[in-house]
Amino acid sequence: MARKKIVAGNWKMNKSPSEAVALVNELKPLVANQEVDVVFCVPSIDIIPALEAAKGSNIEIGAQNLYFEESGAYTGEISATMLTDVGVKYVVIGHSERREYFAETDETVNKKVLKAIEHGITPIVCCGETLTQREQGITIDLIRQQIKIAYQNVSADQAKTTVIAYEPIWAIGTGKTATSDQAQEVCAAIRTCIREVYGAAVADEIRIQYGGSVNDSNAAELFAKGDIDGGLVGGASLKADFGKIVNYK
Ligand code: PEP
Repeated sequence: MARKKIVAGNWKMNKSPSEAVALVNELKPLVANQEVDVVFCVPSIDIIPALEAAKGSNIEIGAQNLYFEESGAYTGEISATMLTDVGVKYVVIGHSERREYFAETDETVNKKVLKAIEHGITPIVCCGETLTQREQGITIDLIRQQIKIAYQNVSADQAKTTVIAYEPIWAIGTGKTATSDQAQEVCAAIRTCIREVYGAAVADEIRIQYGGSVNDSNAAELFAKGDIDGGLVGGASLKADFGKIVNYK
């Protein structure tokens, strides 16, 4: 089946609310491509102004995290209900920076994935290996484990609506992109893993992105691969180049 590509920008901890509005307004005409789902995953404080600025456009606004509890004494956290209340449709879960700096594990990723799904938010579930793990030859085993734990207690119907982002950690923010063959190999292995767990229909439908130094000159080659359904883009999502990535063809 033909899967619609999805290109998501991960703004990380960049752009104040006023800067976010300016960037959405600048990018709006550049990303107006109906053939691709376009998502801007912005800092929490930017969500409401970004939603306002994106109104009437094809841009969906996503969050970069949520907490897996409903509400309560969790200082500094943001809940799924808070996100849906304002119209957030996507959330990045388990980005490697959150795993590295904020102690997220495959188990907390699973709890967050379940909470997002429960509230009708599409999780963009991140997985990826370090350079050492790649050199040790354990990339595929590791990614399979990350995916299997992230999707524990997720049903087939739920799984097919989610998005997976394969992001080799050594390629994030380094300017060092995986080759399109390396990216395809792991994305295909992820789809195989999904097929084993959920069957062919889910594997055919679920969208798998590549992330790691995607830019306007490598997007077309990466996105042309059979198992790569778009990208999760960090640095290049903060500038006009993002429009070229969305219009990669
Ligand atoms: C990311 O933040 O998920 C990412 C892939 O960053 P970059 O595109 O800057 O490597």
